[in-house]
Amino acid sequence: MKKIIVIALLIISVIISVNFYKQYKFKKFLKNINDDKFNITEYYIYGTHLNIKGQINENYTDSKIKLVLKSIDEEIEYNLKINNSTFTLSSKINDGINLEKLNNNKYYLLIKIGKEYYKLNNLTKHKKDTYYSFIKNNKCNKLEIEFDNYFTISSKKHNSNNIYDIVIDAGHGGTDSGATYNNYYEADLTYKYAKALKKKLTNLGYKVKLTRDKNEGIKTYGKHSRTAIPNEVHAKYLFSIHFNSSEDYITQSGVEIYTLDNTNLSLAHKLITNIVNNVNINYSTNTAYLVKKGIYIKNFRQSDISYMNEQAYANNYNPYNITTSTPYLYMIRETGGRITNAFVDGRNSKYEANPYYNSNVGVESYLLELGYINNQRDLQVILKEKNKYIDAISLAIDKHIKNNS
Ligand SMILES: [Zn+2]
Repeated sequence: MKKIIVIALLIISVIISVNFYKQYKFKKFLKNINDDKFNITEYYIYGTHLNIKGQINENYTDSKIKLVLKSIDEEIEYNLKINNSTFTLSSKINDGINLEKLNNNKYYLLIKIGKEYYKLNNLTKHKKDTYYSFIKNNKCNKLEIEFDNYFTISSKKHNSNNIYDIVIDAGHGGTDSGATYNNYYEADLTYKYAKALKKKLTNLGYKVKLTRDKNEGIKTYGKHSRTAIPNEVHAKYLFSIHFNSSEDYITQSGVEIYTLDNTNLSLAHKLITNIVNNVNINYSTNTAYLVKKGIYIKNFRQSDISYMNEQAYANNYNPYNITTSTPYLYMIRETGGRITNAFVDGRNSKYEANPYYNSNVGVESYLLELGYINNQRDLQVILKEKNKYIDAISLAIDKHIKNNS
């Protein structure tokens, strides 16, 4: 018995001293990091990714410069795109460092050239942001991204109360019935679809919240609004469900997925191909804002901007800073915070301010127009093939998330 205790104590003390030695070595490593004018000029979190832009010291432009995340026992390397004296991790906003892949650890974000490590200084006005990972067994990882001498990401297990993975928005509701055709209302259909999608995704293991839990209206902006809920519950993805209608009800038909400029389109692509392959419906015939089969990017046009400016002058507030690269659809724009140019800041007294308009953490959002309810053929499919739609959409989402985590 005594022997066992002695051996156990011996093993424990070896483990402790190895750990002490590792910590000692890591502290020494941090002390010896060079500080040579490498700066972060912008960073943000969109969806599940952290993206970074910065400046490099001109003396190093020819070298192979890497970004690394270094913890006491890990080193993860990222390639950078370098242009003169600036660097970007990715040109796509939903790309960069996949925060779902980090372990519970404290990581230091550094520049690595050959065998040398360099510190990154913070030129942004942001000091701390928080990301909550996908939930497993009522726990998620809480990642704190902060600057305190070093740029660090600390990940710890966290209780997932009040945190959700995905938000589903049933378009319209209440007095806003959306598109109508005979006795069919878009708001009722989106609600049925959203509820079914929630159920299916929940069965697949995700924690899902609806923006409206009843077949009622919900305000667009302000606390607990349709645009704020996804951020309030720290969701990673938002899907807003809609059905279309058109004056040209004979020829206009099919499915449209709306997304953003400068994004990796892989999830949008999975959604549209899964739907058209499994539901008796086709890619939309609509060509306005079309970027790729079934995928649309709708930004403000010059005429929209002129209209918005006229509204501002007529109602005595300063025009918003809207350009032709500002997303038009508020569900996509306002849920992404400053990254997607959210602008509803309360200056127009008709709308409550979006509490997250200037957030540095954004929800990756998609708007799905699942067919034209005033097209006879589409309507029949929408009414009869709900389960096929829900299977197609949920499996596309599940596959995308599993591939990325
Ligand atoms: Zn709609």
